[in-house]
Amino acid sequence: MAEQLAPMPEDWQRALAVVAHPDDLEYGCAAAVAHWTDGGREVAYVLATRGEAGIDSLEPAISGPLREAEQRASAEVVGVSSVEFLDHRDGVIEYGPALRRDIAAAIRRHRPELVITLNHRDTWGGTYRNTPDHVAVGRAALDAAADAGNRWIFPELGAEGLVPWDGVRWVAVFGSDRPTHAVDAEPGLERGIRSLLAHRTYVEALTEEDPEQYCRNLLTDGVGQAADRFGGRPAVTFELFPC
Ligand SMILES: [Zn+2]
Repeated sequence: MAEQLAPMPEDWQRALAVVAHPDDLEYGCAAAVAHWTDGGREVAYVLATRGEAGIDSLEPAISGPLREAEQRASAEVVGVSSVEFLDHRDGVIEYGPALRRDIAAAIRRHRPELVITLNHRDTWGGTYRNTPDHVAVGRAALDAAADAGNRWIFPELGAEGLVPWDGVRWVAVFGSDRPTHAVDAEPGLERGIRSLLAHRTYVEALTEEDPEQYCRNLLTDGVGQAADRFGGRPAVTFELFPC
């Protein structure tokens, strides 16, 4: 039997998900978010960009606002009403102090115990290259979880009235090829599928398939792959870093 994944911690009240693009959370993570918000937890989303460079047939000035609207609708499906955008430029997000500061500021505003981000490693499972945006935001989110609690790293945040928050207990990385923890996917799976489907323009540009079938197959396959490591149950997996 494959080595089993531990259940994700449940003893927290607020989470902040920090990712690069609209749709990054909808390839499976949103099913876990639905489960968490069902349990009365608060989850907020922060996106580094509006994903304005993500659709070949649409220029950024049109794509950005459209993808922002789709992201807000998508979040609502899984019980998330707070969606913020940091206005970095899609495709060329730079890892560095400016990004860390923007994410640290968001962490201070939201005061989460759990920070969620997307795969920060160079590849997806050693096969496909990850994009620079995901790597930059994932790494910066891991760093910012600590930066947010240190009054001396970005003193300008304190001057803006954002007091340090050292209450982040874990950073959970979704899409990692080294998962350690998981959430039962079943309670939130249908809403997870609808949350991906809410990125309608993006999904239609991506595939010739029926959009709903595309979303359903993709998510069902994804969570199914983890079942042999989670007692036979479809699961949303995370690599969990304690802080
Ligand atoms: Zn992305």
